[in-house]
Amino acid sequence: MLRKPIPVKEAVQLVIDHCELVGTETIPLEYAYGRILAEPIIAEHDVPPFNRSAYDGYAIRAVDSVNATEEQPKAFHVIGEIGAGHVGERALEEMEAYRIMTGAILPENADAIVMLEETAETDEGFTITKVYKKNDNISFQGEDAKQGEILIGEGSFIHPGTIALLATFGYANVQVSKSPTVSIISTGTELLDVSEALKPGKIRNSNGPMLQGQLARMGIEYKSFGMMEDDLEACTKVVEKALTESDIVITTGGVSVGDYDYLPAIYERLGANVLFDKVMMRPGSVTTVAVLDNKILFGLSGNPSACFTGFELFARPAILKMMGSTSPFIPRMKARLGEDFPKKNPFTRFIRAKWEMGASGPIVVPAGFNKSNAVSSIARGNCIIVLPSETEGFKKGMEVDILLLGQELGVATWDL
Ligand code: AMP
Ligand code: MG
Repeated sequence: MLRKPIPVKEAVQLVIDHCELVGTETIPLEYAYGRILAEPIIAEHDVPPFNRSAYDGYAIRAVDSVNATEEQPKAFHVIGEIGAGHVGERALEEMEAYRIMTGAILPENADAIVMLEETAETDEGFTITKVYKKNDNISFQGEDAKQGEILIGEGSFIHPGTIALLATFGYANVQVSKSPTVSIISTGTELLDVSEALKPGKIRNSNGPMLQGQLARMGIEYKSFGMMEDDLEACTKVVEKALTESDIVITTGGVSVGDYDYLPAIYERLGANVLFDKVMMRPGSVTTVAVLDNKILFGLSGNPSACFTGFELFARPAILKMMGSTSPFIPRMKARLGEDFPKKNPFTRFIRAKWEMGASGPIVVPAGFNKSNAVSSIARGNCIIVLPSETEGFKKGMEVDILLLGQELGVATWDL
């Protein structure tokens, strides 16, 4: 049967539309990094919770500084000290001050902070040579967040800043989305394990470990089913087993139209609904995605560059979507080509590439040998150039889209 290629954007959307939430769970804050919030963060109280000193210095009544000048300094009497976490014993009276540290709560009647470096020490305390206004150098209750405010929405990625905010409000435990469980199966009779010596006609399985790395950098646990020879019966069995043990099954190899490419037959046997089996992209046009019940099967090409790209384009956003992320897509930006790329692009082309900041903005160059079977350019790359279908003759200096790899924060839309 002839495969009907669909545009990348449509393929990505199809996958996303079939992603079901895995569920939610409550976990200790210390394990929250990399997860997706399943509840919004609402300010339980004002932040800061009280007016406090923004500097080390002295807490005074601003009114007492009136008329202070270089020529006629005003002298203050220091009645005590307030370190952060402590509270002043009594209210300030005329020409009195507390020595106060950054973050300490203001004593009663104090309404300005004099910075230490703006004072001259005396036996009794200090002098100042300028006038302070009410509220000078104070960090105010609620200036950062007001009680009741929704600060971060559910579906947000939990990064170190999110963790700080959760901790601020006493979330010792946090409700997050469950992560899908993922199985990886490498298929191909030619495959050797990493630890094996090369033999004629054989290559080492690089896709399996690569996919493990791609999942690891997302903080997703995986189960590896190792390598399978191209054998319909055996492969069907292992895919079935993987399906019972995980929400997502990623296979590499065996989705083309060769005599030993059994994945299409396996999907048929399992009764899986194939969303697409050809995408208008290079590399990885044979990328196939199927769904069975609430599970997703990613049939990635065995060609390393195609496998890598297929994961980033389809599996990554699907996993994040299943985790409830509202920004599951790979972030991108514009960069100028650092060299010509004359090839024709009948389909959308994804090129492993390297970007860096040039004098007048980001510059990107392909990361070397760039056929779909390339592995070296994946290793050298830090991004993927996207060239639209039906284009050609890209010249040095032209602006292109690049997908940024390895970013912890994604974006909400995908329209390439
Ligand atoms: P396939 O998708 O099975 O047609 O494989 C396409 C190409 O990728 C062939 O040259 C395979 O030898 C190679 N290949 C398949 N699986 C892997 C793998 N796990 N690691 C590295 N190369 C692979
Ligand atoms: Mg194969």
